[in-house]
Amino acid sequence: QPEDALLTVSGLTAGYGTSPVLHAVDITVPPATLVALLGPNGAGKTTLLRVISGLLRPSAGLLRLAGQDVTRLRPHRRAQKGLCLIPEGRGIFPSLTVGENLELQVPPWMADAELGRVLEMFPVLGSRMKQVAGTLSGGEQQMLALARAVLARPKVILVDEISMGLAPRLIDRLFEALTELAAAGISMLIVEQYVQRVLEICPLAYVLNKGAVAYSGSSDSLGRDDIAAQYLGTA
Ligand code: ATP
Repeated sequence: QPEDALLTVSGLTAGYGTSPVLHAVDITVPPATLVALLGPNGAGKTTLLRVISGLLRPSAGLLRLAGQDVTRLRPHRRAQKGLCLIPEGRGIFPSLTVGENLELQVPPWMADAELGRVLEMFPVLGSRMKQVAGTLSGGEQQMLALARAVLARPKVILVDEISMGLAPRLIDRLFEALTELAAAGISMLIVEQYVQRVLEICPLAYVLNKGAVAYSGSSDSLGRDDIAAQYLGTA
């Protein structure tokens, strides 16, 4: 595996029942880097995130996190090792308050100061600790999902369509938060329908088509790559 890789996926093949979806997929995520995972509907992006997080078992391939083989670990063990999924449609408890959602994620040994630092990154949450999470706006709920993920001290966050249904202004704020988290040392593999905008924050990109990698490389050259462009539409 490449020397500077944090997460590597190699030769990954997976599907549902007897229908294959992913075919020998190779992906590398460097430390503290945002990586876009793009491709047309049905290409297998969500399926890949599910396999990486351990929710779906691959039929072949290898997954390494920080040099360690995690291919056979259960999802919660992967999470303990720093691999965290924010699923499409948010990973929060809507009937609990904001404060309760966060507290559930705070390990007993964590200092109050650390929760404070996370809340500084997401100021909107600090003023709404007693509000029931399900009554937050869509953007606020996504901020809460991100804050919960960050409290788990992840190395890599897998982000599935975090901008779904949000107003452009909120998407900007969320993408800013993703950039700040990368600067703080967290890597992310980001599935996103807003192709141009996500490419602005991700230096690296992969394009999946029909379950295989159709492009991998810098986001800058992706714009000039005809093969990749034909799979991306004009979002
Ligand atoms: P989109 O951009 O539309 O969300 P995607 O790239 O995330 O698409 P996936 O959701 O990974 O694509 O789906 C890949 C393929 O796997 C599709 O053909 C889909 O119908 C199929 N698929 C997804 N989930 C299941 C499932 N639970 N059982 C059977 N087939 C599934």
